[in-house]
Amino acid sequence: MSINELIKKTAAEQRKALLNKEVSAVELVQESYKQIEKIDDTLGAFNSLCKEQALQTAQDVDKKLAAGETLPALAGIPLALKDNMNYKGSRTTASSKILENFVSPYDATVVKKLKENYIPIIGKTNLDEFAMGSSNENSAFKIVRNPWDLNKVPGGSSGGSAAAVAGYESAIALGSDTGGSIRLPASFCGIVGLKPTYGRVSRYGLIAFASSLDQIGPFSRSVEDAALLLEAISGYDPNDSTSLNIPVPKYSESLKKDIKGVKIGVIKELFAEGLSDDVRKSLENAIQVYKELGAQIVEVSLPLLKYSIGVYYIIATAEASSNLARYDGVKYGYRTPEAKNLLEMYTKTRAEGFGDEVKRRIMLGTYALSSGYYDAYYKKAQQVRHLIKNDFDKVFETVDVLLSPTCPNTAFEIGSKIEDPLSMYLTDIGTISANLAGIPGISIPCGFDSSNMPVGMQLLAPALQEEKLLNTAYNFERATDFHKCEPSAVLVK
Ligand code: GLN
Repeated sequence: MSINELIKKTAAEQRKALLNKEVSAVELVQESYKQIEKIDDTLGAFNSLCKEQALQTAQDVDKKLAAGETLPALAGIPLALKDNMNYKGSRTTASSKILENFVSPYDATVVKKLKENYIPIIGKTNLDEFAMGSSNENSAFKIVRNPWDLNKVPGGSSGGSAAAVAGYESAIALGSDTGGSIRLPASFCGIVGLKPTYGRVSRYGLIAFASSLDQIGPFSRSVEDAALLLEAISGYDPNDSTSLNIPVPKYSESLKKDIKGVKIGVIKELFAEGLSDDVRKSLENAIQVYKELGAQIVEVSLPLLKYSIGVYYIIATAEASSNLARYDGVKYGYRTPEAKNLLEMYTKTRAEGFGDEVKRRIMLGTYALSSGYYDAYYKKAQQVRHLIKNDFDKVFETVDVLLSPTCPNTAFEIGSKIEDPLSMYLTDIGTISANLAGIPGISIPCGFDSSNMPVGMQLLAPALQEEKLLNTAYNFERATDFHKCEPSAVLVK
């Protein structure tokens, strides 16, 4: 197989080629850079590249393989890192002007784990500023385009990571998901995206947006790759007090079981008004596939799901307003050149350094937390969050896994929603509740709309049941070909 065919394959297939000496790790990394050179001016997936270190890691892999050493499963496979995770020596910007020239002084725990697994990090990917958004149009630097149609958004906030994987710039990527930022772009770009259980993956070194909701997770072109990458990054970390001290299963080894008798609950509220016909059709077809595979399909109801967006936009903004207080021009990044006194330095730095959406969130969050409103908004939202979690606990007493569209629509035109924050917020109706409940969710390709844009199916499982989730996804993938379809737009240039 030629190398430009090989970079379209999954990480597991690239690994086979590495072990069979059909390709070297250095060649794989170089090929990623060639593809980036060819298409990334158009795609906009990367904020910066980390060539020297990536090639060094690849060289180490080649040496070790030549010496007959056994290496971890993803050693030598090019990975793209969302630019809100610290990687020592790299610029870590969160796609914000306020951190434009910030160079990480340390490694995030996930980066440490990537290094231990000899995974070359080829670059840092574009995102919505501070991970706030659903389309990647909120980046302070540049927009990201969807590899399936360059006039459409890739989804957000991890749009760069999703576009990099869908555009064959890297085999795998990491993103972060606070309300859907891994699953939504995965669904818009026709790839796999997994948000783990809250606490499964350490958040140490991830630039905080909403700390009770943020989780880091994998993007890939197959469910098996997602399982392998999840295995590599999961585990207890004393540097993150919310990290769970529970052994990490061999996720990739749980993919063989069939799913006869598995009970899948179809979430009624997510098949209601507002769902596009094309998405509905793809999902109905997917349900049929599961029936043929022997799964048992039942309809279930999550009556409080309708409050999830309202609850999220109080809790997430409240936490963001507190997390983002640290960017004051003193310790990090940008400082206004024009201040006449300390107070002006703070206010001008923040006014000039943050973009509109980030300012909107800080104002909403500060309002929700302010005295006199705390009980009415923040406390109430926490109570409803608890009830939403109870709804999930209740349905998981009767089903193994839940199924829904990842998003009610497919990727939309660049510019079409950016002036209307409310309609942008509504794209997350399918994904946000999993963050509120802390449970794992995956988006996998399940069809195409009438303009040939990918449709994503979301599966959810109870906390720490990633094995069940991955196995259910894997069985669908094995029975269908959607994940093998190639985006035409990236092949054009
Ligand atoms: N789209 C949601 C928001 O704008 C979720 C973002 C995320 O998951 N980081 O907040």
